[in-house]
Amino acid sequence: KKPVIAIDGYSSTGKSSISKIIAQKLGIIHMDTGALYRGVTWFALQNCIGENGSIDLKMLFSSFSEIELEFKNFEGELILFLNHIDISKAIRTNEVSDNVSFVAKQKEVRDFLLQSQRSQAEKGGIIMDGRDIGTVVLPDADYKFFLTASIDERTRRRYQELISLGIEADKQQVKENLIERDRIDSEREIAPLKQAEDAIVIDNTFLNKQETIDAILSHIEK
Ligand code: C5P
Repeated sequence: KKPVIAIDGYSSTGKSSISKIIAQKLGIIHMDTGALYRGVTWFALQNCIGENGSIDLKMLFSSFSEIELEFKNFEGELILFLNHIDISKAIRTNEVSDNVSFVAKQKEVRDFLLQSQRSQAEKGGIIMDGRDIGTVVLPDADYKFFLTASIDERTRRRYQELISLGIEADKQQVKENLIERDRIDSEREIAPLKQAEDAIVIDNTFLNKQETIDAILSHIEK
């Protein structure tokens, strides 16, 4: 039976890129749940801006029926579509990053996104990365990992990622965004970012991508 694997951790610890490679290696699906929260945030920034210029939550909550988020499978990789538009790049902008944790801490938003995450996993053979996968979304996952790394190393990685996506970036701003998101994600009441009691913790400050992958696989292939 193909495994169900939960990967949680702080922002920019490499959860998604590592999960993607592990999924290919094990022949399972990879689902980046952060993309869902980013997708809802992107929608809100387009369609639910109130008179004061910021996201109007009431407007957002009453728009859920107009939001169709769908992962399409391209050779094992799930690409996110919102109302049939590929938003995989649009959700990486600084504007989305600056607003996503505020959107993600809303109970309504988490409830809205929970079911689609669980139903993907019911089919088995999946690696899902996020903040609350091992604690809330998939408490019965076969394997749980929690990734962490120093803030400076995470800033360096996130900065590189933005540059390679062609998105303008400032290192200090990137660092502040990571700190702020981790703070909001950890302090929120519903499904806060925290390690599951039965998660294996991996600090990959001094590990490269391949070494982190090997560390995870060493537990799975046992
Ligand atoms: O993984 P990524 O950094 O793209 O996630 C963006 C944001 O989405 C996180 O900072 C967090 O606010 C939210 N998120 C969440 N629960 C998850 C995944 C992401 O609240 N399972």
